[in-house]
Amino acid sequence: MKRGYPPLWLCALLLVLALVWKMMGAPLSSEEFGNLRTPFWQARVLLPSRLQRVLQLWLPGQFNGQEGQTLNEDGTDPDQRELAKLKTTETVMLPVWLPQEGKIVSMSLESYVCGVVAAEMPAAYHAEALKAQAVAARTRALRQVSDSGCLNHSGAAVCGDSACCQGYASMEDCREKWGAEYELYRDRIVSAVQATRDELLTYEGEPITVLYHAMSGGKTENAQAVFASGEPYLVSVDSGGEENAKGYLTDSTFSFEEAAGLLSQAFPEKTITAQQVRRALTVGEYTNTGRVKTVLLDDYELDAQTVRKALKLRSTWFSITADQNGVTFHQRGYGHGVGMSQVGANSMAANGADYQTILAHYYPGTTLEKQ
Ligand SMILES: [Zn+2]
Repeated sequence: MKRGYPPLWLCALLLVLALVWKMMGAPLSSEEFGNLRTPFWQARVLLPSRLQRVLQLWLPGQFNGQEGQTLNEDGTDPDQRELAKLKTTETVMLPVWLPQEGKIVSMSLESYVCGVVAAEMPAAYHAEALKAQAVAARTRALRQVSDSGCLNHSGAAVCGDSACCQGYASMEDCREKWGAEYELYRDRIVSAVQATRDELLTYEGEPITVLYHAMSGGKTENAQAVFASGEPYLVSVDSGGEENAKGYLTDSTFSFEEAAGLLSQAFPEKTITAQQVRRALTVGEYTNTGRVKTVLLDDYELDAQTVRKALKLRSTWFSITADQNGVTFHQRGYGHGVGMSQVGANSMAANGADYQTILAHYYPGTTLEKQ
């Protein structure tokens, strides 16, 4: 062997390791790393199922038919078996309007909560974050049952539209979304829902108004600053550990004409020109947590929530700059910022917090109760 060359066996070993890594679907290029939907360290929950699939390729005899045997043993669909664990004699039934079906479907509260967690939080998130999300989803549904139900679909307690009530993923949606990881992710979500069965957050004995969002940007927002009314438990709290999440900082650039067009549609009472946007678009007021409350166009005040909607910005935590290419909004976090930050919850869980601690942090002053 010549000096300076690694031994052949080492090269072969590295090659095999790289091959196994790739076969497991793990990222290789920086682009693949960038496209990961969950933090890389969290992808380890996929390891057992990925490894099994690699082994299946090499040792087909060992694993073939295992799935079939399980199915034949008790003759049930694994989905039904998992969901059956959630059913008891006292199942609360909910009328849920499903966008997938275009109608109201009656389903058990716990099945509904599974569908909401599957739709609203990445299934690879930490188990304690999934449990916090399950309690949040259940509480929101129960609060709506005691209030007036879904505002956009009469007769339904809740709907599956994330812009109205909460998102809802059916089993078919989940199969499509998760592909080969379907069973692993389904089991993680069902376990989180089961572990928190019948638990909800209350304030003065009533289910609380639950709001949550993807990523606060470091600090959550007071409900009063975003919606017309506030609650004593929907107040700003610190939400550290979000800095490394994908999409923590996002820039959106619009040409002056494009921005003027979109803003004119959102504020029809005012004529907004490209020249004005180029010359005079600045932040007006800030909320107490540092998010933008109003945007100024000369001396005309634009509501930041409406600006966010018009330009499809990720949050109202932004600054504005302009250059020859147009106007750029530098945004932080994702969502309205009120209540639990999902990325923050995941980060707290990764640092050892349980779901009770996470919920107590994001909804201060509330009580976790068993129904
Ligand atoms: Zn609704």
